[in-house]
Amino acid sequence: MAVYLSTALRQRLVEADDHRCAYCHTSQANSGSPMVVDHLLPLSKGGVTVFANLCFACYRCNLFKGSQVEAIDPLRGEMALLFHARRDRWGEHFTWDEAGLRILGLTPVGRATVAALNMNNDIILDARRNWIRLGWRPGAE
Ligand SMILES: [Zn+2]
Repeated sequence: MAVYLSTALRQRLVEADDHRCAYCHTSQANSGSPMVVDHLLPLSKGGVTVFANLCFACYRCNLFKGSQVEAIDPLRGEMALLFHARRDRWGEHFTWDEAGLRILGLTPVGRATVAALNMNNDIILDARRNWIRLGWRPGAE
């Protein structure tokens, strides 16, 4: 959904997320399309359009997230909250595998988010392989 943001609010998001998806860290340049504005608590669940409830997300993560705020942690089989870009720190919940291809969930939040947002789907893995061939490394953008 297109969301109206004031210039100041958009600038604050740019500074916080640096034109990267807050979930999978795909840069806008690598994704080939503009970041979308994700409501951490969806509008449909009473979320509001303020900085504390917003992050940039790639189209793919935003699409898979939909209106979810929690999902099954595949390791424990229990519900866990999804990653909250304004409350949680990425490095506490996720890491990259040694090849820099796959995002690994370190916590229930991380594992549930990787699974729910399909953060290692075949298409993004192909793209990451190409970026790696060109010298890209996670976190080095
Ligand atoms: Zn993403």
